[in-house]
Amino acid sequence: ARGRVVVVGGGFGGATAARVLHRAGHAVTLIEPAETYWACPFSNEVIAGLRPMSAQAFGYDALRASGVTLARTSAEAIDGAARRVRLADGTSLDYDRLILSPGIALRFDALSGYDAAAAEVMPHAWKAGAQTELLARKLAAMPENGTVVLAVPGNPYRCPPGPYERASLIAHYLKTRKPRAKLIVLDAKDTFSKQKLFQQAWAALYPGILDYVPLAAGGQVSSVDVKEMTVATDFETYKADVACIIPPQRAAPIASAAGVADRSGWCPIDPVTFESRLVPGIHVVGDAAIAGAMPKSAFAANAEAKVCAEAVIDLLAGRTPEPPKLINTCYSLVAPGYGISVAGVYHPANGVLADVEGAGGTSPVDAPDAVREKEAVYAEEWYRTITAAVFG
Ligand code: FAD
Repeated sequence: ARGRVVVVGGGFGGATAARVLHRAGHAVTLIEPAETYWACPFSNEVIAGLRPMSAQAFGYDALRASGVTLARTSAEAIDGAARRVRLADGTSLDYDRLILSPGIALRFDALSGYDAAAAEVMPHAWKAGAQTELLARKLAAMPENGTVVLAVPGNPYRCPPGPYERASLIAHYLKTRKPRAKLIVLDAKDTFSKQKLFQQAWAALYPGILDYVPLAAGGQVSSVDVKEMTVATDFETYKADVACIIPPQRAAPIASAAGVADRSGWCPIDPVTFESRLVPGIHVVGDAAIAGAMPKSAFAANAEAKVCAEAVIDLLAGRTPEPPKLINTCYSLVAPGYGISVAGVYHPANGVLADVEGAGGTSPVDAPDAVREKEAVYAEEWYRTITAAVFG
């Protein structure tokens, strides 16, 4: 049976889902207001001056040319009972199944003094685009002996290793361009993704430059003052020349408008179909979803979207979807030519996506430089491959 499927959000999750459904012969409309998608993976390299912003830009022409219908507007409201999406351009779309991959919202209510206006002074750069370039410009303009403060939130948030890759590459920038400058990393937790690998690299590459301060045991960045350029924890106030504040996050606003976000701000889903636990007929993939052990990554969003689209195809045909297995790999660069990775395999177990025991793992802690060099190449290859598969 052919069904009407609407996909909200043309990022790694949504564009993937639209492609899979279209290839299977379904009428699919992808709703996305932006004409250019700015990719976050590798945006830390842009911040450190290692890569042009143009390498992060993708369009929707190929998707359109392949026959996917694009609605260049936002979804404003969703009536799950009537199965109808209202769009910002005043029109509505009826659906049999709806897939949401709207990404994240930055919580501008979480840290005292940190709102959208403050982010123009202390960028988060956690959505790629103007914020990425703003942080890059601020680093470039910083005094030779300046202090950078990077605030990292507690779990869960988009891209678990991303803040530590950012710390590494900012430290690389300081080491090579402003060796009298310092970076202070204020972390709301004291354990994190690929921790041993990052900390080993920091000790070898950035001693005296990168100061990692775990604030766990109740500590966190509690407020910022953009006039004074200070970042305060419960115990201490840090003066910054450049501050990058990555605030706590939640699913993008359309998720709560649709009623699919729970009190955590994220969207509980069935691990076989990615159908919302709260509103039938609506599926949620990517960063917005609570995907159990799977991290919020572009790799995961792409994998989840494929599984979800196949499940939707089955459901529209009256078939029961088979339990899936999903894979994720997250690469990080700690310096140019120095890559590390973490991989996992996941399956539905006890109602959630759980790790397949014994599968996956991280790069070896003790490895020759050649291994790190190869992983940096794999990271580049991964980016080329996934962006071509999703947007190409
Ligand atoms: P997004 O990619 O954010 O896409 C959401 C889309 O939905 C957007 O285009 C938005 O415009 C649209 N949208 C939102 N609301 C609406 C609405 N109401 N109507 C219509 N459209 C809407 N992941 C990796 O796998 N590897 C990496 O190396 C990596 N590095 C990263 C580095 C950084 C610095 C950051 C911040 C993230 C990184 N990530 C990485 C994570 C990755 O970017 C995200 O996990 C991924 O983008 C999630 O995809 P998504 O489809 O859920 O959301």
